[in-house]
Amino acid sequence: MDEIYLNGKFVSRSSAQISIMDRGFLFGDGVYELIPVYNKKIFLLHKHLNRLKNSLSLIGMSDISGIEDIIKKFISRNSNDHFFIYLHVTRGEQSQRNHIYKEAMEPTILIMCEEYPSYNKDQIQKGFHACMHEDFRWLKSNIKSISLLGNVMLKNHASKHGYYETLLIRNNKLTEGSASNVFMVKDNIIHTPKLSNELLPGVTRDLLIDLLKDNNMIINESDISQDDLLSSDEVWCSSSTNAVVPITMVDENQIGSGKVGSTSLLIYDITRDFIKNY
Ligand code: PLP
Repeated sequence: MDEIYLNGKFVSRSSAQISIMDRGFLFGDGVYELIPVYNKKIFLLHKHLNRLKNSLSLIGMSDISGIEDIIKKFISRNSNDHFFIYLHVTRGEQSQRNHIYKEAMEPTILIMCEEYPSYNKDQIQKGFHACMHEDFRWLKSNIKSISLLGNVMLKNHASKHGYYETLLIRNNKLTEGSASNVFMVKDNIIHTPKLSNELLPGVTRDLLIDLLKDNNMIINESDISQDDLLSSDEVWCSSSTNAVVPITMVDENQIGSGKVGSTSLLIYDITRDFIKNY
């Protein structure tokens, strides 16, 4: 859809304008959400809005009143069944470029629709390859910040080398992927890094943990070392664009049998059904 929402107005992408003095443009001073819409229904909207509120609070901004109604009004104008809502909030425009922001600024609010490829079952069954890299990003990765240069560099490192994702290691601990959370399976127990300032509290991560528990699987939120990861039986990445993406190789290392494992396929199917029935 060409139409976007910007600061109270519905306008076309090409005619939308923001000030060069916007702190989002000058400092990357803002936060965002990416929210799936399946069969015209907004998926887990309240979880995304809670995370937005938390990200805003962590950067000293107030919650955006009426945002739910704005999003609903915006998507009612889109005739597609499946798409993603990109919601971007910056601290707003300031007359001079200054690291120090004014209190009570008027935020800039942008909402637009995006489309991302969703992998089909054949692609999921084949699995994907990932690489590993030191996590050199800042220590507030729990904020869904629009300052994504570190993530952009790390995701491009993967794609330039033909990998789906870069898995990030800091102090010999897995944090997350450059644009996803990570799960691994060892001896039928599922592990994912526990929440901290070093990773994003993924909405899909949260959903998968609930679905795994509902299906009587054991899930352990704890530290995962590089060796743990490489000696695991299965690995998958999770995100709102593709809920479960099985990883069968990490750099030169085969994960488990080198084929997509049964737990990955099971959680893929469970999640796909949950989405279908949502
Ligand atoms: N971690 C990072 C760095 C991300 O960019 C994303 C999604 O974009 C995720 C994790 C997964 O979060 P969610 O499941 O809420 O999409």
